[in-house]
Amino acid sequence: MRDLSRFTILAVDDDSINLRVIAQQLAPLAPRLLVATDGQSALSVTQRELPDLILLDINMPGMSGLDVCRAVKESEKTADIPIIFLTSSEQDTAEAFSVGGVDYIVKPVDSDALQARVCTHLHLSASLKALDETNLLLSSANERLEKKVEERTRELVNTNANLRREINERRSLQDKLSFLSHHDFVTRMYNRFALEEKLTEQMASAETNSTKGFLCLTDLDQFKIVNDTCGYLAGDEILRQLAEVLRGQLDKDDIAARIGGDEFAVYFRSADMGFAIAKVRAVKSALENFEFEWMGDRFKHSVSMGLVEIDESIDSVSHLISVAERTCYQSKLKGGGEISVYNVTRAHVDKTQQQMRLVPLIRQALEEERIKLHVQAIHCTQNDTITKAEVLSRMRDGTGRLQPPSYFIPVAEKFHIIDAIDKYVLTKSIEALKTLPEKFQLSVNISGEFIGKEGAVDFITGLLTSNAADPSQLCIEITESSAISNLDATIEFISRLKPLGCEFSLDDFGTGTSSYEYLKKLAIDIVKIDGMFVRDVETDAVNRRMIESIVAIAKAKSIRVVAECVETQAAKALLETLDIDYLQGFGLHEPEDIDVFSNNLSHR
Ligand code: C2E
Ligand code: MG
Ligand code: MG
Repeated sequence: MRDLSRFTILAVDDDSINLRVIAQQLAPLAPRLLVATDGQSALSVTQRELPDLILLDINMPGMSGLDVCRAVKESEKTADIPIIFLTSSEQDTAEAFSVGGVDYIVKPVDSDALQARVCTHLHLSASLKALDETNLLLSSANERLEKKVEERTRELVNTNANLRREINERRSLQDKLSFLSHHDFVTRMYNRFALEEKLTEQMASAETNSTKGFLCLTDLDQFKIVNDTCGYLAGDEILRQLAEVLRGQLDKDDIAARIGGDEFAVYFRSADMGFAIAKVRAVKSALENFEFEWMGDRFKHSVSMGLVEIDESIDSVSHLISVAERTCYQSKLKGGGEISVYNVTRAHVDKTQQQMRLVPLIRQALEEERIKLHVQAIHCTQNDTITKAEVLSRMRDGTGRLQPPSYFIPVAEKFHIIDAIDKYVLTKSIEALKTLPEKFQLSVNISGEFIGKEGAVDFITGLLTSNAADPSQLCIEITESSAISNLDATIEFISRLKPLGCEFSLDDFGTGTSSYEYLKKLAIDIVKIDGMFVRDVETDAVNRRMIESIVAIAKAKSIRVVAECVETQAAKALLETLDIDYLQGFGLHEPEDIDVFSNNLSHR
């Protein structure tokens, strides 16, 4: 740094010759030079001009250089100005440093030394200043940063609080919505939807409980009078108050709901019907003793009630509610103010009546050829081919819907029209053999009743002859239960048809109590292991053992084995390792219309 023109230097000496020498020596560097010849004026120049550096004579009359230095250093404004002392003796130097000087030069002043030191200290001071400024900047940047962090933190805290508020609001809104969707607006009791949900849960868990479940329906008699004479406000109010009365009669685990205009339902558990009726009576008298007052008028209401014990005859919640409603309606029919109890025997009669109504419909379906043949393929495990299929019938009802065998076969059996169905299915099946590949075998399900009928064998042989069918293309499936109930007839039936070439399957094998006995007695060709052993064979070790033992015994008697209800690939894979001859089930083929099936078969 050889150009000092932007710096101001103050030289202080009581000897003006010294000052002149200094001025000459510094001239090449061209600083702005100020001079003072005593301490006081040095201080005032310093305060006024704020020089960048001071050259200060130590020994001056009056205020010494050391005193000037102290004063400069004491003032905040000037404290940073570097001071180089000029001294005639090195002895003063220690004190010079202690009062704040940065350097000293011994007089007579050497020009080079002066220039070098001045330059060095100006440079140092400038660097220090720059450093201070940088520090200042840094600390202000830091401050700003801290402020920002604080601000952001505050914002985050606020956002968090807002979010939490929003979440809480939403939650409470959701709670409200869920409450509203499950509760009746007027009485704040459960609504019909919630009741159905609760009843579904209860009915699913009821088996593990020693008490019995009951559903009681209550209908207010002449509720309409209040509504008509006093208006809907009064109607709502009476319902609200009655709901309170009802609540007062309930035990902790009871479930009460308003399921219609003036209909309340209560689900409760009780040891038996006697206790249940006692409870319902108490509820009834509480409701009937309640007096409703509206604008000076007083109303009292009797109630009609229906009580249902939930037992196995009730198979669903909708069934339960409809039974309860019907039972309650019985009370209404009697003029109200009654408790009617649902009667299982009566229900049985109802069911029988319902089934009886189905009998002419089944007959009609037979006449109109609305009994439809579906077939399900039976896969041969040895060569993965389909050479057999089981005929499964469906009934197209009056509405055109296809009904499963469970809809009409049990009724047909009970009302003795099953042999007509069997004849029909046999006829259609043997006719259908023509549309199927040569040697293809159809398995037809036959009832015990048909087997016991006179002329059954002749009927079948007649069909085989008239259709010129190969008897070995017909396999007759007899369920274990029907074989048992008609053992002699079954033995005779088999012994007459077998010599012709017809085959026989023992269906649903394993469901009876002494299944193996019948393997000995009946000359069957095939056993069909019931689906209940097959369905979860891959996870149930007991079922697997059961199947293994059926297979072992069947093989010992040269009887072939079908596993039915093979639903999954896992079950199929496992069964293939068990020496089973045939597999049948939704996992391999879902039953389909026989024409579609034979069409597909010929295109396969
Ligand atoms: P089944 O002879 O034991 O027939 C097998 C039943 O299991 C059929 O039900 C069939 O659709 C079903 N099934 C097949 N694979 C699977 C599977 O993977 N999973 C499950 N869950 N089920 C499967 P479908 O058609 O409802 O027949 C029921 C019963 O009705 C038959 O049992 C049979 O005993 C009787 N049946 C059907 N058609 C006739 C008929 O024309 N005459 C007589 N007398 N009885 C029939
Ligand atoms: Mg069958
Ligand atoms: Mg079966």
